[in-house]
Amino acid sequence: MNDMNGISGKLYALLDSVKKGAESAGETASNAAYMAGKKGEDIYNVVKLNFKIAELKNDVDNALTEIGKMVYQTHIGGDDNQEILLEKLREIDSLHAEIAELEIKTGKAEKIITCPVCGSEIQASDHAYCGQCGTKL
Ligand SMILES: [Zn+2]
Repeated sequence: MNDMNGISGKLYALLDSVKKGAESAGETASNAAYMAGKKGEDIYNVVKLNFKIAELKNDVDNALTEIGKMVYQTHIGGDDNQEILLEKLREIDSLHAEIAELEIKTGKAEKIITCPVCGSEIQASDHAYCGQCGTKL
């Protein structure tokens, strides 16, 4: 496999993940409508959020690809881009944080709360009391 194949393969994977994001957006919307009888406006918001999540995940993929290129450049004796590399890694951290936040909004992820007494992390919808110390939440 030459470089061109590698790049286009990556591109297809990326396009595929965009497509999947769109499909899961539709799926979540219909589930939400069925289960909670949500208003059209809410469904539209969930679809919008899911597209945003897919977009952010693509940004993560792109950043990872760039990091891979930088690491390889360094390996073959090119410029040492350590600062840019760290910046990219931090960018991915913040993208992940943003994705996690949006997934809570769409109901895809549980909101995690921290027990005010012992500091344990608890899934918000699961428990009314802290499993560690019994504090009412
Ligand atoms: Zn506790």
